[in-house]
Amino acid sequence: MKKKWRDLTQVEIDGLSLKAHRAYRRWKSKQRKRAAGTLNKKRTIPAFYRSPEWLRARYEALKRSRGHCECCGASPADGARMNVDHIKPRHKFPDLALDIDNLQVLCNRCNAGKGGWDQTDWRPPSAEMAERELDLAMLHDLRARGLLN
Ligand SMILES: [Zn+2]
Repeated sequence: MKKKWRDLTQVEIDGLSLKAHRAYRRWKSKQRKRAAGTLNKKRTIPAFYRSPEWLRARYEALKRSRGHCECCGASPADGARMNVDHIKPRHKFPDLALDIDNLQVLCNRCNAGKGGWDQTDWRPPSAEMAERELDLAMLHDLRARGLLN
């Protein structure tokens, strides 16, 4: 039989009602915040992430990836939330904070898995680079066949 929430609040754990447990958790969380000096402080988005310069760079990165995660290919259509990630972290490379070449689009899952220590560039190689590689391969082939010095 399904229990109603009102019935559940009557449940006791270690002699305390669920209500008392919840009140205790709230009190404990307040204490923790008071100790950290963050009581009554709303979580605010750092000024950098609100700046028009960042929003512009972020938009450019999203446009380049067509809104897809550059690691796993997920998109908002798959229910993924997109993040624009700094490949080289902002705190270590502040000069690259707005550099589009230092940005990649990652979904929440990929971004959460990627630690601050990881600087993997997940972007697919650009068409330009692929073309250059093909040119080099052709040159190499021609040289190997003695058709080019
Ligand atoms: Zn992903």
